[in-house]
Amino acid sequence: MEKTFSMIKPDGIQRGLVGEILQRFEKKGIKIAAMKFMMISRELAEKHYTAHKGKVFYDDLIRFITSSPVLAMVFEGEDVINIVRKLAGATSPEAALPGTVRGDYSLDVEYNLIHASDSKESAEREISLFFREEEIINYELITAKWVYPK
Ligand code: UDP
Repeated sequence: MEKTFSMIKPDGIQRGLVGEILQRFEKKGIKIAAMKFMMISRELAEKHYTAHKGKVFYDDLIRFITSSPVLAMVFEGEDVINIVRKLAGATSPEAALPGTVRGDYSLDVEYNLIHASDSKESAEREISLFFREEEIINYELITAKWVYPK
């Protein structure tokens, strides 16, 4: 089983979309392994978005992500990195397909509601930035045998 990092961004919290977004992952059968409602410090934001440092949107992005609380999460499941990214949708609003979180609820390339790790390396790095080892809960999800028959 794979783990990925995801986060409902400040616009998702402020627009009251937490339940709506989470429901999609729960209904898909994805397991929640950790969750934290928190403010992101400037230091953490800079670490998380280090790959974007120097880009034109970087300063705005850091301001946005630190402006209001986020819901940081770890999801677990087979191929969950790819699957959560697909459910999140493409970065730009014209490319985000209906049926995805961004395609259904976002109209802006910056205020796009959700973050999802884009690779195994990013997932490991981002999980460890936001969560301590003991905050990631190892438990049996009773529905797993009905989600993964083999
Ligand atoms: N972003 C932005 N302007 C851009 C591209 C990205 O403000 O032109 C923001 C947006 O919030 C995006 C985040 O920066 O989600 C990280 O960008 P990335 O290209 O990694 O997109 P993602 O993986 O989130 O789809």
